[in-house]
Amino acid sequence: MTDKGTPEFLSGYRDAKLVHGVIKDIKAQVTQSWTLMEICGGQTHAIMQYGLDQLLPEEIELVHGPGCPVCVTALELIDQALWIARQPDVIFTSFGDMLRVPGSEEDLFSVRAAGGDVRVVYSPLNAVKIAQENLDKEVVFFAIGFETTAPVNAMAVIQAEKLGLTNFSILPANVLVPPAMHAILSSPGNRIQGFLAAGHVCAVMGYWEYPPIAEQYQTPIVVTGFEPLDLVNGILQTVNLLEERRFEVQNAYSRAVTYEGNQCAQNLIKQVFQLVDRNWRGIGTIPASGLGLRETYQKFDATKRFEIGQIKTSESEICIAGQILQGLKKPSECPAFGTLCTPQNPLGAPMVSSEGACAAYYRYGRKNE
Ligand code: SF4
Repeated sequence: MTDKGTPEFLSGYRDAKLVHGVIKDIKAQVTQSWTLMEICGGQTHAIMQYGLDQLLPEEIELVHGPGCPVCVTALELIDQALWIARQPDVIFTSFGDMLRVPGSEEDLFSVRAAGGDVRVVYSPLNAVKIAQENLDKEVVFFAIGFETTAPVNAMAVIQAEKLGLTNFSILPANVLVPPAMHAILSSPGNRIQGFLAAGHVCAVMGYWEYPPIAEQYQTPIVVTGFEPLDLVNGILQTVNLLEERRFEVQNAYSRAVTYEGNQCAQNLIKQVFQLVDRNWRGIGTIPASGLGLRETYQKFDATKRFEIGQIKTSESEICIAGQILQGLKKPSECPAFGTLCTPQNPLGAPMVSSEGACAAYYRYGRKNE
């Protein structure tokens, strides 16, 4: 432990005794029911993995937010990706999770099985390298993610321009957290009273965007990390703020997050991208919630390079992912959960992704909650 009472090593953030101590504090503070949303799917998985939801007092309900990038990528974008990947002389690159996400008719794995050149990369910079090595092919990167992946997506575009590559493009699909918080808090069915903000997003963006949201909707927001001790500390701070009717923003992840965030990363995003309206799968269009390429970089936009034309999407009639991503329902309330829809045979993106709420419920046995 440091002299500030925080663990010195990562293992300390998984120390059961420390976690139980914070749970005891939460129980001592809470006087009424509160509904909190953890925004990030990585946090949802950690909560399920360590059974934190089951340790909390019954007054605290955690609902799972839209912070799974694979889950919220619009069906039209996935269908566009599938169309591009099917074209001859195209190498389509993507993070691995996207390959199993169902489009209207198939997924990227099916395109690969049918002979398409679909490759998993761990960074868009790998896709730029593939473009350098395959000048006779068009190389496209599926640029999904939140503010966490936007800087490296921007770097890939800048790098491609520096190298003079004319065979590299991205399918822009980045989305932003604050507009989604506005959409959730202003929706008529909203029941969220406090947010655990995603620590990794705030490591990039800081948390200067959040105080106006907390004030406008009278909803406290606490920047929260991903280890069990981080999560229960974030919950404790949110409960304290709610009990004291203080609608503020606090940082429970100060070992990684500052108020200003990473200025270099934010400048890269600003240089390459501009705000655009974006459709979120299952939720609908949220104004100024996505990143599109600025005029100067539009030559790297795959939707302009390929004549994709009209795409008619068709969503599963059974999947209730939209309600789950808005915190209106739990995965186990979906009639297909664990029967028609499993990780082996997913009907919707939340059952595919390593950050999807349905996959977390399935993996950690939350079938009746
Ligand atoms: S369990 Fe499957 S069908 Fe149901 S909401 Fe989740 S992804 Fe959709």
